[in-house]
Amino acid sequence: MAEILVAIEHRKQSLAEVSLQMLSKGRQLCDQTGDELVAVVMGRVASGYAERLARWADRVLVARNDKAGESLAEPCQKVLTSIIKERKPRLVLIGHSSFGMDLAPALAVAVNAPLATDCISIGIENGAISVTRSIYNGKVNAQLSFTQVDTVIITGRVGEFTAEECNKRGKVEEIDVSWDEAFPYKQFQGYIEQPSRGVDITQSDILVSVGRGIKEKENIKIAESLAEALGAVVACSRPVIDNGWLSAERQVGLSGKTVKPKLYMAIGISGAFQHMVGMKGSRMIVAINKDSRAPIFDIADYGIVDDVLKVLPELTKQIVELKG
Ligand SMILES: Cc1cc2nc3c(=O)[nH]c(=O)nc-3n(C[C@H](O)[C@H](O)[C@H](O)COP(=O)(O)OP(=O)(O)OC[C@H]3O[C@@H](n4cnc5c(N)ncnc54)[C@H](O)[C@@H]3O)c2cc1C
Repeated sequence: MAEILVAIEHRKQSLAEVSLQMLSKGRQLCDQTGDELVAVVMGRVASGYAERLARWADRVLVARNDKAGESLAEPCQKVLTSIIKERKPRLVLIGHSSFGMDLAPALAVAVNAPLATDCISIGIENGAISVTRSIYNGKVNAQLSFTQVDTVIITGRVGEFTAEECNKRGKVEEIDVSWDEAFPYKQFQGYIEQPSRGVDITQSDILVSVGRGIKEKENIKIAESLAEALGAVVACSRPVIDNGWLSAERQVGLSGKTVKPKLYMAIGISGAFQHMVGMKGSRMIVAINKDSRAPIFDIADYGIVDDVLKVLPELTKQIVELKG
């Protein structure tokens, strides 16, 4: 029976959300093709995740190792190489996280398989695997299909696939693979926690989120006034952090936080996928941008095409008046 294999990522006692998204996509493909879904989880605490993974996978392979940790891609690549060479799955799914980006290219070279990275859709039709990649910062979609290859390796974009719950009871197997732990050029030193200043944007029902369109640090206070009127917290896109206008804990997106407030106000934010991945689950999205073609409008429920510096004070005034 053909297999689809998912390489599982975990960190600090929790499974990476993108791995559950890949597992769920793999389940969907296997239900369609009749393939077997195999999850591979590696590292010191790997067995602790097996039961959860077996809810999606027909088979969970646990490659435990007391010394090799979860944070380096190199040892995991070696383990996966031997598993792929032995099992020859038709498809290997990996999350397009920084771990996945480290892992997938070297793995593809080691097993001599084609690789498509950062895919936003993955399908199998008449035995051929096809994917869509969003390129040039979301301006163009490229479609690729693979034929006449034993194994294809694909990384899936973080947040693009939904992790649907599943209630299978797959088999769990501990496997005996040799771990090569000697990677003198790279060693895991530890995690560096972001110092918290007491703001948790993930807990607020309303976020007033500012982007580069706010123009300068001085203008943040206009957004703060709106946030105060709405009982909201101020969040932001990455350039606002890079410019030092707000602290890093307020960043939404791929390298920031994922938020799902009841109301998300995107103010002067273009809608790069790295930002949208962190906020598209919001219940209602209102975008204010002077460019009517900004991608943020594709996912906004309401849009205002105008200058934020003009709209915000007026909006704040009206909200304050309405609230009496
Ligand atoms: C690996 C990686 C990770 C990343 N992670 C993140 C992340 O976690 N979060 C994140 O946000 N980004 C992230 N980025 C950056 C991302 O690619 C974008 O560059 C960023 O999201 C753009 O932010 P922005 O929309 O504020 O700025 P811009 O893209 O510059 O958009 C500014 C918008 O403001 C509008 N505007 C300008 N002036 C006005 C005005 N006066 N009134 C109204 N509208 C106005 C413009 O029309 C434009 O649409 C990441 C990038 C990489 C490569």
